[in-house]
Amino acid sequence: MIKRAGAGILSGVILAAALSCSLSGCNTVQNQTEHQTEQKTEQEVSQAAQGENQVSGIEFRLQYPQAMWQGLNLTYADYGNEEEFERKFHNAVQKITGLTGNADWYTKYNPKAVYIRVLIKIADMSYRSIGGQCDLPIVDAADGLFTTVYMDKDMQEAGQPTLEHELTHMICGETFSNSLMDGLAEYCERQVTGKSNSTFSVYPADDLLKVIEKYNAAEEEAGVTGKISLEEIMDKIGAGEKEYPYKDVSKEANHLWYIYSESFVTWLINTYGMEKVMDLYNNGQSEEDYEKLETGGYAAVKEKWKTYLSEYEQQNSTEDILAEQEVIAQQIKEIKLR
Ligand SMILES: [Zn+2]
Repeated sequence: MIKRAGAGILSGVILAAALSCSLSGCNTVQNQTEHQTEQKTEQEVSQAAQGENQVSGIEFRLQYPQAMWQGLNLTYADYGNEEEFERKFHNAVQKITGLTGNADWYTKYNPKAVYIRVLIKIADMSYRSIGGQCDLPIVDAADGLFTTVYMDKDMQEAGQPTLEHELTHMICGETFSNSLMDGLAEYCERQVTGKSNSTFSVYPADDLLKVIEKYNAAEEEAGVTGKISLEEIMDKIGAGEKEYPYKDVSKEANHLWYIYSESFVTWLINTYGMEKVMDLYNNGQSEEDYEKLETGGYAAVKEKWKTYLSEYEQQNSTEDILAEQEVIAQQIKEIKLR
């Protein structure tokens, strides 16, 4: 049972759903008992990736803490064992490199890399209130890289797609805006799996104005202060900030920051195309580089996105959106009660 969230009309949903992740720097993993699994040959890797357009071009050597698999209940996960997990992993890498065009992502960490050793740690992360983390790859040997992907045990057991989110961080790395970074991770996660791990992102991203209104009204009725300021969140979306503005991820505002970041990145990709968005992501240094997308830069881009959201809102009645959300919220509750 995940116990991480507060009160309010949406608390069932908030309790049920997942938390976000952070991408950290190169943490050193210490005192971990590891065992190296059988190394995959290049042939096996490409077999796993069959049917995908792009070959990632690097060999993955997945490793796990000792006895990790024995300690997991995978009944509701979307893989049943280590082998299936690895297939899912390889597929996700293929799809994310294909989507983003970042096929040679590893060369920026080590131009000579022919393999990457990835330590997968599925463990309880609720004490940190995060759903996962991916360390930036570091040089492992002259021709290799090493990284660690952490994922919350509850969320993995519940079939939440945190792997795809973290792999997007591994493949796309950092940029000048954490909102762009996590927006892209949420975008890829939804593209690859058809679902999302962020609480509110079970809703179509653009329905969220209604969600906030409903949430705030319920809080007010309950006499709870600290309503979510939509304006404040909106200001932070896509901004040139290298920080997580809502660090306490049990807070609804943090979930909304993630889902609005996803909405923004999705809109950027639909409006300007993936190539331009990835150019901004890979080569942009600050908010000023939004000029790559639009004359008038960040301010002009944000204005257009907000106009899109308000038009979306006008086209969809509050009743329709809320009715749809009730159904989804109920489904989530049932899933978590299993
Ligand atoms: Zn993240």
